Amino acid sequence: MGCSGSIAAGCRTTAFLLDDDVLIDAGTGVTDLSLDQLARIDHVLLSHSHLDHVLSLPLLADSVMRRRRGRAPIQVHALPATLDALRAHLFNGIIWPDFTRLPSAEHPVLELRGFGLGQDVDVGAGRFIEVLPAEHSVPAVGFALKSETGAWVFTGDTSPNPMLWQRLKDLRVAHLVIETAFGDDQRALANVSRHLHPMELGRELAQLTQPAQVHITHIKPGELELVMGQIAALGSPHRIQALSLGQVMELR
Ligand SMILES: [Zn+2]
Ligand SMILES: [Zn+2]
Repeated sequence: MGCSGSIAAGCRTTAFLLDDDVLIDAGTGVTDLSLDQLARIDHVLLSHSHLDHVLSLPLLADSVMRRRRGRAPIQVHALPATLDALRAHLFNGIIWPDFTRLPSAEHPVLELRGFGLGQDVDVGAGRFIEVLPAEHSVPAVGFALKSETGAWVFTGDTSPNPMLWQRLKDLRVAHLVIETAFGDDQRALANVSRHLHPMELGRELAQLTQPAQVHITHIKPGELELVMGQIAALGSPHRIQALSLGQVMELR
């Protein structure tokens, strides 16, 4: 629902919807869902605390609180450090009310649940999402949704990440969603903010030892053609496309 590094008309920040009830990151892409669709979300997994990945969560809680009355809280899964950041800087009564205690402390609309690297997060209906390592400027993770025929893998925001490729050797990767936040001309900015640029993407993908459909995400608005041109020039053997708004990826 969102695959851009920031906002502009037609650009939304990171958010994926798994089936109709699991949200992976809560960027501005969430704002395209109807109230009914929002109310169906039972689980939210957050890759890290940066605003472009969490900013719809406080508003989601507010929007669905009345509709979800009598239902279990929405489970928000993230690293303990990410949850601490949400408590301190977002649900602090100043930026936004503490929706982990609203409408009441006994029956809140949100429940924060910590996970650890390598954990399989149970999101119901036989679905498990593995927490993958990421290397970013704040504690961060990626995710793998595993099925019998292959896995959907999302790197999260990351700089070069050898541990990820080590783990992916043992997973059959059907779809790899990987970030490339900056063009090569902005590699200094990419390095300091712990993101990838196309030259580094090439070195990362060389460690993916199996054929997979590769989807590029987190490109800044207005930079898509530049970045995808630099990626095409890498001559990678993988099938690489820019992820697009509304795109559906299927695991059978
Ligand atoms: Zn980030
Ligand atoms: Zn980001």
